[in-house]
Amino acid sequence: MAQLDISQKLTILADAAKYDASCASSGAKKRDSRDGTGIGSITGGGGICHAYAPDGRCISLLKILLTNSCIFDCHYCINRRSSNVRRARFTAPEVVDLTLNFYRRNYIEGLFLSSGIIASANYTMEQIVEVARSLREDHDFRGYIHLKTIPNADAELIAQAGRYADRVSINVELPTRQGLERLAPEKSETQIEGAMADMATVIEDGADARKRYKSAPRYAPAGQSTQMIIGADAANDRDIVRRASGLYTRFKLKRVYYSAFSPIPDASAVLPLQRPPMQREHRLYQSDWLIRCYDFSLAEVTSVADTATGMLPLDIDPKLAWALKFRGQFPVDVNRAPREMLLRIPGLGPTAVNRLLKARRYRSLRLADVARATTSVKKLRPFIICEDWRPLALTDSADLKALITPKPKQMELFAV
Ligand code: SF4
Repeated sequence: MAQLDISQKLTILADAAKYDASCASSGAKKRDSRDGTGIGSITGGGGICHAYAPDGRCISLLKILLTNSCIFDCHYCINRRSSNVRRARFTAPEVVDLTLNFYRRNYIEGLFLSSGIIASANYTMEQIVEVARSLREDHDFRGYIHLKTIPNADAELIAQAGRYADRVSINVELPTRQGLERLAPEKSETQIEGAMADMATVIEDGADARKRYKSAPRYAPAGQSTQMIIGADAANDRDIVRRASGLYTRFKLKRVYYSAFSPIPDASAVLPLQRPPMQREHRLYQSDWLIRCYDFSLAEVTSVADTATGMLPLDIDPKLAWALKFRGQFPVDVNRAPREMLLRIPGLGPTAVNRLLKARRYRSLRLADVARATTSVKKLRPFIICEDWRPLALTDSADLKALITPKPKQMELFAV
């Protein structure tokens, strides 16, 4: 590997890290150093890579790889062994210095660190853990740390990652076992899920211990997450939603991230030539929200997928697709319906539903009350009944979908 200075390494290793989508920071414990001790804070400041949390909060992270060299040869990965990219590698002290320097300049609020596999899974994991350990123990760094862990590293090393990081993630990479075997033959679904199960146990045991002993160490307080690549293998949306739902249930994941496959230079012949539509990734995120935040069951979400192809509709969101498919469930009386039915009304989110539930304790809700709780009452009207509104036969109208879905816009040919 040629001798590179820090700035050259940063250029290469920050660019190599951009393919990882799983760096949102939701759920992190708020830590700061305003008492004059320590350094770093999870909140405030400007930054390099912006990670958006589901609650809309945005934090800036130094998002880099320790190295983009790798002994594995996953077909979809630009850093795979056989790829012809320029390689670079940071030492653990270099990453620590960079993080502290960037923090002091107010560029970042935390670190997202991943890596290709150097020599062995354990050696790589030791280097990753050393960065986090040094930041926390040698420098009392209180900013956010997200570590990507290597599934076949020793359980003890993965637990140590959880000891120092706010969030850890272990990528499942592909939605199905067959996809993983075909595109990442050196990885094993059993090892990946084993590491997730170990981490779930460490987090749960740590939380239990904290209930009994205030001084017990905290393990990954922002939980664990994973990422899967969409469109690189034959998995359809139904397979993907099913896999994600299983991961949430079995390993209590905080988030599953979906990353639309993008063709890479010198791509392997087993990969598709084109990336899937971005809208597909967006619809998968929406279906994920329905399960996590709207109390939809897996069966409800997958019921809107096309029976033959297993794909979610691209032209409308899955919640609207469900409402159109099960029109018999509507209109819903916003003054009497239980929370779970209010959550199924297109256009009403959990915050709006909570507002309506609170307001209806004191008065009978009118259309204006519903309008105040949401951004567009137009989408809702065919699906609700309230004190002064009833949609007559509109819910059964065959052209309901056309009436409430946004009109397609002509794209500008040369738009930048
Ligand atoms: S192990 Fe990770 S870095 Fe290495 S080739 Fe596979 S996906 Fe890329």
